[in-house]
Amino acid sequence: MTEPTLGREERRAELAAGLARIRARIADACAAAGRDRGEVTLVAVTKTYPASDVELLGSLGVTEVGENRDQEAAPKARAVAAAGGRVTWHFVGQLQRNKCRSVVGYADVVHSVDSVRLARALAEAAQRHRDRPLDVLVQVSIDGDAARGGALAPDPAAGAVEPDRLLAEVAAAVAGSGSLRLAGLMAVAPLGWQPAAAFERLAGIAARFRVDHPTATALSAGMSADLEEAIGYGATHVRVGSALLGKRSTLR
Ligand SMILES: *Cc1c(COP(=O)(O)O)cnc(C)c1O
Repeated sequence: MTEPTLGREERRAELAAGLARIRARIADACAAAGRDRGEVTLVAVTKTYPASDVELLGSLGVTEVGENRDQEAAPKARAVAAAGGRVTWHFVGQLQRNKCRSVVGYADVVHSVDSVRLARALAEAAQRHRDRPLDVLVQVSIDGDAARGGALAPDPAAGAVEPDRLLAEVAAAVAGSGSLRLAGLMAVAPLGWQPAAAFERLAGIAARFRVDHPTATALSAGMSADLEEAIGYGATHVRVGSALLGKRSTLR
């Protein structure tokens, strides 16, 4: 974890400045897209940064926080709760089935369900260890590369896809579970793609998806480098780490 090298007041000022820049970027992107600013939620991705930063962000009005590894997120969520912080935790990273039980203990939203097997494991954990449904976004692959993360929305020209990874099957497993609520889709622009091209394709996938799941309207897309393009193509949640908290010392 990155140790804070600044005093608390200096760090607060730094985060406030970063937040002002991000809020301005979001507002400008909404204006450019003709969208209402209220349609877009900022999720601050605090991976590698300490619980004290989550608390400072909370004091600046940011209560939607994202993490990508359970090993780091679970103790951070405990520390923030112990300090009296009220945070909505978004789990945005690759999730292993043996971590589901831990994740359902603190997460309010999981953005990264991309297989039927994972959906079932998460549903079972939520069933046992929660008293209300867990919001789930199905992570979808924009480029259809089965070797990378994301459920697949196959185009008819492509070959057969294992049912475990089919977007329609994953969504059905979430929607039919009882302990999970299908809230929408999440994606990451593939490496080497122009963000606008990636998010345009995502918007098409999302539009088709909502025909079958009209209440699953969340679209989590866009990060520090490409939030404008994502908002232009309908993102409702942008996941911003480095542009808000600073460059991470490790690349993840
Ligand atoms: C780290 C991470 C982000 C934030 O990335 P930045 O480029 O630092 O804004 C967003 N989404 C996921 C899934 C991440 O792992």
